[in-house]
Amino acid sequence: MLDEFRGQRERMVVELVKQGYLRSEKIIKVFNETPRHLFVREEDRNFAYADYPMPILAGQTISAPHMVAIMTELSETNPKDKVLEIGAGSGYQAAILSKLVKKIYSIEVDPELVTFAKQNLGKARIKNVEVVHGEGSKGYEKAKPYDKIIVTCATPEIFDSWTSQLKMNGILLAPVGGGFYQELLKIRKTKKGLEKKNHGGCAFVPLRR
Ligand code: SAH
Repeated sequence: MLDEFRGQRERMVVELVKQGYLRSEKIIKVFNETPRHLFVREEDRNFAYADYPMPILAGQTISAPHMVAIMTELSETNPKDKVLEIGAGSGYQAAILSKLVKKIYSIEVDPELVTFAKQNLGKARIKNVEVVHGEGSKGYEKAKPYDKIIVTCATPEIFDSWTSQLKMNGILLAPVGGGFYQELLKIRKTKKGLEKKNHGGCAFVPLRR
């Protein structure tokens, strides 16, 4: 990408690699190619490449770059994947994943943010993300089953709708917990049941119903 933010973006990526958040060549490349400044409010563009979450609209936030890096690395992307995201927000996490998988459905509960995410993805010329207005705890029946489900709002529990819409051997990533902090869980659906692994503390805005 040749734009005025290229230098800032490369510095952000170098930092994320140095700190161990970004590891895979293909994901590093995608971070370097994705214009994060198109996913924040216009007045915040100069801060788009700093490593912290930022307010977008309606009291919601775009996740910090290192959190997007962690989620993307954990999702074991495959070019054939169909992914469900819960919480489109700015659309940035979906934009990153879009270049690593086949198709993404991203559910967003807030109509203003549905528009915001769609506009941002349009500006970035991303075509394989479908932003859907809806309540994400029900998943999205219409396009099931999914190879991966990525939850980007704090959820009090793992809803059955998610695990039932996930393919066998599929991966579900979710920040689980009711308070300000949650545990990032990676869950694999196997024939023997759900295998859970805890990937540490995180802080997402809560799932709203
Ligand atoms: N992935 C986003 C981060 C979004 S913050 C990004 O890259 O910018 C969490 C988002 O989840 C907010 O946009 C919020 O409106 C949305 N959300 C909260 N509860 C939801 C629900 N029940 N269903 C769908 N989206 C929800």
